[in-house]
Amino acid sequence: MTSVPFDDRDGVIWLDGAFVPWRDARLHVLSHGLHYGGGVFEGIRVYDGRPFKSAEHFRRFHASARELNFAVPHSVTGLDAALEETVRRQGIADGYVRPVAWRGSEQIAVSGAGTSVHVAIAAWEWPHVFSGDAHSRGITLHTSRWRRPSPDTAPVRAKAASLYTIGTLARDEAEAAGCDDALLLDHRGHLAEATGANLFLVAGGSLHTPIADTFLDGITRQTVLALARDLGITVHERRIRPGELRDADEVFLTGTAYEVQPVRAVDGHAYEVGDVTAMLSKAYTELTRSAGAR
Ligand code: PMP
Repeated sequence: MTSVPFDDRDGVIWLDGAFVPWRDARLHVLSHGLHYGGGVFEGIRVYDGRPFKSAEHFRRFHASARELNFAVPHSVTGLDAALEETVRRQGIADGYVRPVAWRGSEQIAVSGAGTSVHVAIAAWEWPHVFSGDAHSRGITLHTSRWRRPSPDTAPVRAKAASLYTIGTLARDEAEAAGCDDALLLDHRGHLAEATGANLFLVAGGSLHTPIADTFLDGITRQTVLALARDLGITVHERRIRPGELRDADEVFLTGTAYEVQPVRAVDGHAYEVGDVTAMLSKAYTELTRSAGAR
C-alpha cells in the first residue's frame, strides 16, 4: 500500500462541477454527511484508460442517494462525462475512480432537510487491491463477529458510507487475526459477503452465491453470474449456511477492486484455486480488457 496520504497528492479532483487542485478538495468540519453518515460513494475501475460499466455505477450512485433521502444533483450522463475528463486529466491507464456525494453544512440537526448535496470524483492509478501474488495465490478470510444488518435496520442495498463502519470493524478484526479480509454473516446467520466484495462458493462444479437481500448486489457479482451462465456453469442464488463452507471445493470473491479474487483459506480451512475460479477470472479479465468494454 502506498504511503502517500490521500490529501497530499498532485493532480486535480472534480468537485461540484469544476476541477480543483487535488489538495484543495476539502469539506467543512460541520458537514452533515460527516456527523450523521449522510454520504454515498462508488468505486469504478479503469482499464487501458477506459472505465468499466461506469453508467451502471452512476445509476447505483443515484439509487444509493435516494435510499438516504437525497438526490445527486448531476445526471448519469453528466457524471460519466466528468469521470472521463477526470481520468483524462489524471492520465490514468489502470486505475480506480471514487465518486462520492455528501450532505453539506447548512444545518446540523439530525434531520437532513435543507442540506445541499456535494459531489466529488477523484481518480488514481491502482492496479491491484491486494499486494504481491494474492490475486493468483488467493487470500485468507476470518469470519467476523460483526454482521450485516437486516433491511429494516439499515439501508442495506445502498453503497452508503455509514454502513462501512461495520466493514472497518470487521476488517480491522480480521487483520489483527492475521487474515487478509473479513467474511460477514447476515443478521440471520447466513453467509453474506466480505468487506468490499461479494462471495461465491463452488461445490460439485456448480456455483453458489448468497441472495443479495442484506448487502450490495455487486455489479461484478452480476457480471460474473452472467459469464458463468454463458460458460454453461449452473448457478444457485440461495441462502447459504456457514457450515457449507466446509463442503465447498473453491471459494472466491467478486468486486470492482477485487475483480475475481480467489480465497485460499476461511478460518484456517484451506482451498485450492480451482478450475471454475480460474475460468471465471480469465473470462472477467478478458471482458474488462476487451476493446470498447463499457
Ligand atoms: N460489497 C461491498 C460491501 C462493497 O463495498 C463492494 C464494492 N463496491 C461490493 C460488495 C462489490 O460491488 P461491485 O462489484 O459493484 O464493486
